[in-house]
Amino acid sequence: MIRTVAGVAELRAHLAGWRERGQRIALVPTMGNLHPGHHSLIELARRNADRVVASVFVNPTQFGPDEDFARYPRTPEADAEGLARAGCDLLFLPGVEAMYPLGVEAAVRIRVPGLADVLEGAARPGHFDGVASVVARLFNLVRPDVALFGRKDYQQLQVIRHLVRDLAFAIDIVPGPTVREPDGLAMSSRNQYLGAEERRVAVEIIRNLRTMREQAALGLPIAGIEQEALERLAAAGFAVDYAVIRRADLGRPEAGNEAGLIGLIAARLGRTRLIDNLAFDEPLDAC
Ligand code: AMP
Repeated sequence: MIRTVAGVAELRAHLAGWRERGQRIALVPTMGNLHPGHHSLIELARRNADRVVASVFVNPTQFGPDEDFARYPRTPEADAEGLARAGCDLLFLPGVEAMYPLGVEAAVRIRVPGLADVLEGAARPGHFDGVASVVARLFNLVRPDVALFGRKDYQQLQVIRHLVRDLAFAIDIVPGPTVREPDGLAMSSRNQYLGAEERRVAVEIIRNLRTMREQAALGLPIAGIEQEALERLAAAGFAVDYAVIRRADLGRPEAGNEAGLIGLIAARLGRTRLIDNLAFDEPLDAC
């Protein structure tokens, strides 16, 4: 069984022992309901540090009022087992009081301007303020040498990088590749909300990202590529928040043949909101 701590004092005592021995500490922040995508981050953490801490906290401040905070799947026992198998040393499972000691209403909020207002930020106002605020707290509590985040949440990764640079956290940020189901659907805790027919249709997201990549490689105009993807997704039954091509820094590209472009899609199937992205210079066999 993996060692699990809920309190800040206990967490700090544990970390102090490792630090005294000069061990490099990795942090993998999660909201739990762990799947092979999360486990791959733990394994990557193992290769980047001597000790690996995972946090499981369904952070209320990153959910909008009409979102799925209450029904977000919570599976602490299975999470603990999976973390132990993946090579994690310590599970930090805080309650709201440990993360927000003054209460959620009184909590200091961190805002990343610009980046937090586009794409995911435009569709989910306040979401990245919640993410930046909780990750900054986790960084201060754990004080890791390295922290790992999935490319699956590409914009989140950019927000975290901005946070770390601007607030001078001495933490290396290491991204992990997106782990997918055999048909290409990006693994996500929210996939289990999908009904059988929705699950069959969900694969259209990665299919469209691949088509966008192929069309960009042919030099087709970006606006046309985006519009076609939007129409195909809508025809398949999605309510699309965005289907776009951006530069790695999420700025708008001038032309589709620029290096380092990335396609990003967010779309809803019924009540389930799915996101995915594809870096166009990733090797074709990778996804
Ligand atoms: P979450 O529990 O959804 O907040 O995710 C915790 C971490 O796991 C984040 O850094 C995510 O980007 C990452 N993650 C989620 N899904 C995947 C996936 N399919 N492949 C790789 N990393 C993922």
